[in-house]
Amino acid sequence: MPELPEVETVRRALAPWLVGRRVLRARRAQAPPGPKYAGLERAAGQRIVAARRRGKFLLLPLSGGDELVIHLGMSGALASRRPADHLRVVLELSGPPPRQLYFRDPRRFGRCLVVAAGDYRSLPALERMGPEPLGRDFTLARWCAALCTPTPIKALLLAQRAVAGVGNIYADEALWLARIHPARPSRSLSRDEARTLRRAIRRVLARAVAAQGTTLQDYRTPSGARGRFAPELAAYGREGEPCRRCARPIVKVVLAARGTCFCPGCQRRTAA
Ligand SMILES: [Zn+2]
Repeated sequence: MPELPEVETVRRALAPWLVGRRVLRARRAQAPPGPKYAGLERAAGQRIVAARRRGKFLLLPLSGGDELVIHLGMSGALASRRPADHLRVVLELSGPPPRQLYFRDPRRFGRCLVVAAGDYRSLPALERMGPEPLGRDFTLARWCAALCTPTPIKALLLAQRAVAGVGNIYADEALWLARIHPARPSRSLSRDEARTLRRAIRRVLARAVAAQGTTLQDYRTPSGARGRFAPELAAYGREGEPCRRCARPIVKVVLAARGTCFCPGCQRRTAA
């Protein structure tokens, strides 16, 4: 958390306000020195020319050839209202109020830094990121090629290289929708299963974007609203509750070091 739908919701909410404004000053608040907040001061004087998203990263290209890269980590949030605590970065902006963008990050997994546009050498996760699941590059051919590995399919989804933006929640949801056991080796999926899973990933993410994401605890949209996808969750967080397809209880195991929820009734370990 947050995953693609939550970051996309943040992007859409902030873009009309941010794009076109000049960064007057960018400063660390309670942010530790080091690479996670590198180069921030370089943003000063540059105009924000766009608000893009890549996987779970928010990218703000700047007029001077740099790019502000923001990752919300586990619990990061961007807002125009000053937070009471855990404030890491403040951007002071030109234009009418509100003129401050605040980055709050209680659990400190987030980052907010400036790089030369497109130079992600200090951000290997971004540099090696796979195709956007809702974009044209996420073709069936490319997806099938990425599945040619013994890595369990759940771990492959989380790794961001076969497809971008999927985290623990939407991986469990997509696998449930596609009826695929999360521990199966990726290369054991048939072409039909690969096609079904690709479709499930796109469908789950598109629906979650439309619902402005999933709020379980911390996540809020920049206006403070809760994401509305939580009631639609079929697997994630439903341990012990009946499967919505077959009524068997959803089980939770640890896979790729993450809690993983699935239905032992309709997500079989071996292909049907
Ligand atoms: Zn089931």
